[in-house]
Amino acid sequence: MSRVFNFSAGPAMLPEEVLQQAMVEMLDWQGTGMSVMEMSHRGKEFMSIAEQAESDLRELLQIPESYKVMFLQGGASSQFAMVPMNLTREKSKADYINTGSWSKKAIAEAKRYATVNLAATTEETKFTTTPSQSELSLDPDAAYVHYTPNETIQGVEFPYLPDTAGVPLVADYSSTILSRPIDVSRYGIIYAGAQKNIGPAGLTIAIVREDLIGHAIDNTPAMFQYATHSDNGSMYNTPPTYGWYLAGLVFKWLKEKGGLTGMAAINQRKAEALYSVIDSSAFYANPVSPESRSWMNVPFTLANAELDGKFIAEASAAGLKTLKGHRSVGGMRASIYNAMPEAGVQALIDFMTEFERVNG
Ligand SMILES: *Cc1c(COP(=O)(O)O)cnc(C)c1O
Repeated sequence: MSRVFNFSAGPAMLPEEVLQQAMVEMLDWQGTGMSVMEMSHRGKEFMSIAEQAESDLRELLQIPESYKVMFLQGGASSQFAMVPMNLTREKSKADYINTGSWSKKAIAEAKRYATVNLAATTEETKFTTTPSQSELSLDPDAAYVHYTPNETIQGVEFPYLPDTAGVPLVADYSSTILSRPIDVSRYGIIYAGAQKNIGPAGLTIAIVREDLIGHAIDNTPAMFQYATHSDNGSMYNTPPTYGWYLAGLVFKWLKEKGGLTGMAAINQRKAEALYSVIDSSAFYANPVSPESRSWMNVPFTLANAELDGKFIAEASAAGLKTLKGHRSVGGMRASIYNAMPEAGVQALIDFMTEFERVNG
């Protein structure tokens, strides 16, 4: 068997140990004679898997008791609608910070339900920066403030947690959740599609402060109300059971790796090593201002874009896969989530150094 280093932005690599464990348990989960995929979601076996996963996630992120954790479907893209549907019954205005492609999509969706105030946008810098706290024009009467801590496409990550003076802060954590410790108590809602840093596609996690549940606007479908999922332990309908199980295996793996403090140290090392190769050469470039650079998604360009195809092809032949940049940005992008080992980043660095030597 030969596994490659897959730099895909999502669905992304999963830890090999997790896939091995899933393989061992595939046909017969712990003596039940069935695969987790074949279990009733209401049976005691799956309930134990579900509860353990939630409790491990709570431990990893230190989620306070006053927050509900929901295991949903529909992707982060459904949360773009669910957030305004659930939070704008009493107040119809919402603040949005625009730092890139995913912020824009969240804003477009929110406009169907709310009056959106653009609290800040970095479009003028082509999304290569994050706005500072003093640049945020926040409305104290807004129902919530939405932002994207890590823009997966532009590779821009907030170096600080915005202060919203008591207005609930809503964060699309899809591409940086679990990459380092965060203070959940500072947020109203945290949501994330699983396929970047949690598990397989099809599972979406929402962490919602209890007082924000139960205020959906009229006519909100049951499946789009947080109350529906919260009241039913994410089992109002059939949840994405296999994704939930795999996420649970990833949470166990993270705990063995030293939790989020352990991951943060590894992630910082990986990112610093890669950016330092890019910065120390005139052959490679990253446009993002250093303090706002993502630990998870590292876009970079070649001084001579005509070499892009060659770079991608030779990297692929060397077992370094999915390095092509997003079509809207061009160049290359290396996504180096939790599951990307340091050896993978080192292999990429070695390849880049050799490619520059030959072609530079
Ligand atoms: C991938 C991504 C999304 C979209 O997620 P889906 O699960 O495909 O809907 C939204 N926001 C961010 C920041 C992402 O990285």
